[in-house]
Amino acid sequence: MKTSMNARKQSGRVDLVGAGPGDPELITLKAVCLLEQAQVVVYDRLVNPALLQHCTSSCDQIYVGKRKHCHSMPQARICELLVTLGQQGKRVVRLKGGDPFIFGRGGEESDALAQAGIPCAVVPGITAATGCAAATGIPLTYRDHAQAVTFITGHRKGGKDGKTDINWRLAAQPNHTTVFYMGLSCLNEISQGLQYHGLSASTPIAVIANGSTNKQQEVIGTLTDIAETVRHAELPSPALLIVGDVISAREQMELTGHDEQIDYYLESVSQ
Ligand code: SAH
Repeated sequence: MKTSMNARKQSGRVDLVGAGPGDPELITLKAVCLLEQAQVVVYDRLVNPALLQHCTSSCDQIYVGKRKHCHSMPQARICELLVTLGQQGKRVVRLKGGDPFIFGRGGEESDALAQAGIPCAVVPGITAATGCAAATGIPLTYRDHAQAVTFITGHRKGGKDGKTDINWRLAAQPNHTTVFYMGLSCLNEISQGLQYHGLSASTPIAVIANGSTNKQQEVIGTLTDIAETVRHAELPSPALLIVGDVISAREQMELTGHDEQIDYYLESVSQ
């Protein structure tokens, strides 16, 4: 009796799975296989709901993202939920926007699961930086323009009136591309801070909202005019900022879309 209870407990597992940047085709095969086998999927706001079509009809779908006028479920409660589901012996997919380990709080969740002794693997996803770069034709590194790229969070500590905690020396390096996640609400502070710390006023910056989806919007400007242009364009979140001379390499590329493939694929999975 004791052995079988333990065996049942141990059969639960929670995998932290990257959902990619929004385009439902930008997900790995491994992620799709896990979604097909999942008994429970726990997903958040940045996940394209079309991906839930990979789940069976008996799979429980638990949304833990922000609702209108409400905060999202606190991280500690999400960790508790994952642990509880794992202890119940469920096969759980924790589906997270982009990559679980890039500003995705995947570290906290995998720690909580490890402490509770619940098997957990991480399946990487295409992060917003590479997803948005591809969707707009901006090469994040380019021999003549940038030999390195940095991903930084513009998240404000202590809520929307708090201060950002940006390492300006890192963000304002020459021959470098800097990508800011969660930077839309502090775009003014970022564009001024980068100039104050040495980047020229004419440095190009791109702001991409809903990158890789059919709602994608983008605005390109310089550090001096971008805040004003974005304010006029009323870009929504989620949005990503890409700063650096690589943006000028964009004109040289000609990109073709794959919309018909996406439609075809989604039709095939929904049957
Ligand atoms: N783990 C995610 C990032 C979560 S942080 C990843 O790897 O992509 C949330 C931030 O990601 C947003 O504030 C925004 O800056 C960025 N982001 C996510 N999806 C995006 C999208 N489709 N377009 C633009 N920015 C996006």
